[in-house]
Parts: sequence; structure tokens; C-alpha cells
Amino acid sequence: DTLTESFTSAIRKIRFHDDEKALTKALGELKKALLKADVNHKVVKELIDSVEIQTKQNGVGKDQFLDALRKSLYALLDVKGKSGFVYAPVAPTVILMTGLQGSGKTTTTGKLANWLKTRQKKRVLVVAADLQRLAAVEQLRQVCGAIDVELYADDATKNPVEVVKAALEHAKKVLVDVVLIDTAGRLAIDDELMGELAEVKAVANPHEIFYVADSLSGQDAVRTAATFNEKIGIDGVILTKYDGDSKGGVALGIASQIQVPLRFIGAGEKMEDLEIFLPDRIVNRLMGLGDIEGLAERTASVIDEKKAKALTKKIKKGEFNFNDFLEQMESLKKMGSMKSIMGMIPGMGGMASALKDFDLENSTQLKQIKALVSSMTVKEREDPELLNNSRKARLAKGCGLDIIEVNRILKQFKNASKMAKRFSGKQGMKDLQSMMG
Ligand code: GDP
Ligand code: MG
Repeated sequence: DTLTESFTSAIRKIRFHDDEKALTKALGELKKALLKADVNHKVVKELIDSVEIQTKQNGVGKDQFLDALRKSLYALLDVKGKSGFVYAPVAPTVILMTGLQGSGKTTTTGKLANWLKTRQKKRVLVVAADLQRLAAVEQLRQVCGAIDVELYADDATKNPVEVVKAALEHAKKVLVDVVLIDTAGRLAIDDELMGELAEVKAVANPHEIFYVADSLSGQDAVRTAATFNEKIGIDGVILTKYDGDSKGGVALGIASQIQVPLRFIGAGEKMEDLEIFLPDRIVNRLMGLGDIEGLAERTASVIDEKKAKALTKKIKKGEFNFNDFLEQMESLKKMGSMKSIMGMIPGMGGMASALKDFDLENSTQLKQIKALVSSMTVKEREDPELLNNSRKARLAKGCGLDIIEVNRILKQFKNASKMAKRFSGKQGMKDLQSMMG
């Protein structure tokens, strides 16, 4: 199970009836959920203890328990207050991308270059310093070509140190903002790799070293990251393949066991499938509260910014209507995997895995919703509140659905819209902030 799934199902099970046993039971559910998501037992203990202490401080009850959980998760994930991308005071910011072979370094280098270019409007130079594998430079060339980012490569040499040296001189001349250096990996850590990385590090003098970790390798990813940290020092971790069968426990493990902040998450093979890792957002998502801002940002990358802002405003005012809903569904198609998106919609975290292989084009549900919406009058679409029983009956006839189905869809929509409003408004943000401490 993913963390979000185990958390949301544990939270659903938790009941408090003013007795001491309730807390023990709740902590037990939480512990089960964490272990199920592959969280290291030491981290589990740390978290459970912290939740217990904080809940007791504030009086035992479900709200107190959830507050304590939220705060504890936040404390665990917020390492050194560092998140996302940090620019050097003087350009170019030089980043060394490291990791084992197959962890996703080259793909992630491309994703990060793309993120910097499209979301941050930065000029990026990518450097091909993996000269181990024959096809590595070619792979990076294709990646950079697809996102239209400049690549520095030298097919004449096998020495990554020379390439990096020359690339940095070039970077100064052409005035780029960020230099991303893709390095070679190995199947496992060996002295040769560490030696090469140390040499590249010495000549690159990077502002930060990112370690690219394959989340599918579970506890191994944590151990390898720890070794890289000891041997060459890492400033941040990017977790890849979070879209796959990753249980997610590794995210908590890296933060708490090696005390290096997570900076980005890769959840898909496409260049857009990179998300900035912000602890408060991730905690919300873990607890099934969704991530409206993340969703709006993701939306902004496929539809235009103005539209996305207008949409966020509507959500905040509770004016999100069926036209918006349909439009969202259409643009969801362009946004990458359904699973990663569902987790961002409040209240839908638990549905994420059910929808893992959800086919939007051919989905019966989406067809039903579309049929329902097209049977509505313009006014009804804009104001779902208008839908009383007689209107519902008319709709059911019009779109050929059962009245039960109609009610179910409308209820789903209402819940999603309510949750969205609650956690996106100013008060919602304040509530969350105060819960975070
Ligand atoms: P490298 O050897 O570390 O440079 O790894 P690559 O960038 O070549 O990636 C290895 C494989 O993992 C490729 O098939 C990528 O498409 C795939 N990959 C990388 N990141 C992700 C991700 O976030 N999700 C998924 N599903 N696949 C990924
Ligand atoms: Mg590579």
C-alpha cells in the first residue's frame, strides 16, 4: 500500500470515545499503516512516540491525534528547512546529479532542466558527464532536444573531468543560470565510481549535489543514499518512480534516517512528471487532504496560467461548478498519470490506487458524468445547488442514468467541492499553518 492509502484507511478506522484505550488503539492502527507502507521500524517508533506525546499534551481525542500526526510528519520531513531548488547567490548554480545506474539520473536531469526552464524561466545548460555507457550521451542528447535545452557534450573524450571543466568555461561565456551535470552510475556502489565522482566534484565545485534515488528499491535506496552521503556528501534527494508500486515509506526513511532533505519527486516517465517536494503539501497529501496548490500548478503546466488562477479562485469561493469539473477532467488527460493527480484532489487520496490504471478516454464514469452534465441547463451547470428532486428526476431521464447514479455523482461532486473549499480558503490555510505549528 502507498503511504496515503494506509494513512487514510487507518485514519478512517480510528475512533475516540474518551477513554485511554482509544489512543493505544489509534497508535496501533497508525503503526500498522506505517509498516505496511514499508517505513523503517526505527522511523515508525520515532513517529509513534512523537504522536503519543503530543496527543497526550493536548488532551486525547481524534482531532488532537490528527494534529499530532500532522505535526510529527511535518517535523520529520522538514529537514534543515530546505526544499525545492536553491539558487546560488551568483549564477550559474551548478548541480551535480548522482546516483546508481538506472535510478533515473538522466531522465531526472531532463525533467529538472525542463522545470527550471518552463516554471522558473531559467536558462539551463546540461552537461553530459556519463561517459561510461556508450549510449548515455545520445540518450541525454535526445532528452535535451525534446525540451529544447542546450547540451554540452564532447564525443572525443572519455574523461568526465575534462568535459566538466570545459562545460563550466562555456557556461560562463554563454551566461546560463543553472548548470546540471549528469554523471555515470554503477549497478552498485564501488570505489571506482566514488573515485570518479570525487574527481568530478573537485573540478565542478557544485553548489549542491543531488542524489537520485529509485523509490522502488525501498530500504536499499536509503542505505545507498547514506553511503553516497558519507563518501561524497549530498545536499538533496530526488525520489524517482514514485508513480510505480512504490510504497512511499522510503520518503520518510531518507528524511529521518540520513537527514538529507527531499527536494523533488519524479512520478512518471514524461518530462512534466516532476514535482517540487514541499513538506507541508506532502503531509496534506499523505493525510488524504489533497494538495490544491500542487494541482493548480500541475494544471498550469498544461493549461494557461490565467485559467488556472481563475479556477483556484473559484475553488476558494466554493464556486467550482460542473463546467469547471468537465474542463478539469479534459485537461487531466494531459497531466500525466491519474494516480498522481487523484492524490492531489482533497478527499480522493484513498481513491488513487483504485484509479491507478484508470483510462480517462474510455472511462464509463467520465462518460456518465459527461452525459449528466450535458443534460443540465446552463444555470444548473453553474449552480449545482439548484438541483432539487424534480430536476434530478428530469436529469436522470435525460441522460439515461438511474436516479441513484445521478445522486451518487452529485454527492461525489459536492464532497470534492466542499473539501476543496475548506482547505484552500484563507481560513483553511491558517488552520493548516497553526496545526503545523
Ligand atoms: P540513469 O541510468 O540513472 O540515468 O537512469 P535513466 O534516466 O536512464 O532511467 C532509467 C529508467 O527509469 C528509464 O526507463 C526511465 O524512463 C525510467 N524512469 C526514470 N524516472 C522515472 C519515474 O519517475 N517514473 C517511471 N515510471 N520511470 C522512470
Ligand atoms: Mg544516465
